[in-house]
Amino acid sequence: MYDIAIIGAGPAGASAALFAAKAGKRTIMIDSDKTMTRRAMLWNYYGIPETVGPDLVVVGIQQATKYGADHVKSTVEDIVKTDSGFRLITERDEFEAKYVILATGAATDLIERIGVETKPATEPRIKTVAVVDPDGRTNIEGIWAAGTVAGVSVHAIITAANGANVAINILSEINGERYVDHDIYKPDVK
Ligand SMILES: Cc1cc2nc3c(=O)[nH]c(=O)nc-3n(C[C@H](O)[C@H](O)[C@H](O)COP(=O)(O)OP(=O)(O)OC[C@H]3O[C@@H](n4cnc5c(N)ncnc54)[C@H](O)[C@@H]3O)c2cc1C
Repeated sequence: MYDIAIIGAGPAGASAALFAAKAGKRTIMIDSDKTMTRRAMLWNYYGIPETVGPDLVVVGIQQATKYGADHVKSTVEDIVKTDSGFRLITERDEFEAKYVILATGAATDLIERIGVETKPATEPRIKTVAVVDPDGRTNIEGIWAAGTVAGVSVHAIITAANGANVAINILSEINGERYVDHDIYKPDVK
């Protein structure tokens, strides 16, 4: 049983996984590796003067797995409610999790299939997005959404930030108090 399962490992999903795993929660990213981010040439990612989408995606996933997140390359075909959370059914396997974050980018077939409320998108070339509250909750209790599929501006840094934000909101709900992840720079410590 995972604490948090994340569907998608683009900037939104991997960023959410990084925060969730670094907070000590059992975390899994399930990703079909069709991220639009692999096609991006990035000159507008704060703190990184220049990078290419494929590198950003690989490094993002590595950051999350370094803190213990599992990464499975597969397509989630269905999500079923259980007594303790959700069962995620992929092409080959099934996984259980208490919370789910949908970070599926422009793909909405899964979210529509499981009954997440949607609305027309406002971003260029994005058709449909999930309806979410300001924290990222969908209409299905325990299922949240982040990044492009949650309707935020379609830029890598914004979808990554939104993934982090949604993870922090879930961590705060699980822990019963606002969660922050601050590490302190100690220049004398090597
Ligand atoms: C050509 C192009 C150029 C761009 N250039 C820039 C740029 O210069 N600067 C910038 O800031 N942004 C740019 N972007 C936009 C940027 O890539 C996106 O805003 C952002 O990275 C999207 O992140 P995301 O995590 O929401 O979605 P994605 O990165 O698309 O990730 C979604 C992931 O979910 C997976 N998934 C979907 N459904 C399932 C399922 N059922 N089961 C398992 N996995 C699933 C997909 O395979 C994918 O890996 C560009 C985009 C494109 C297409």
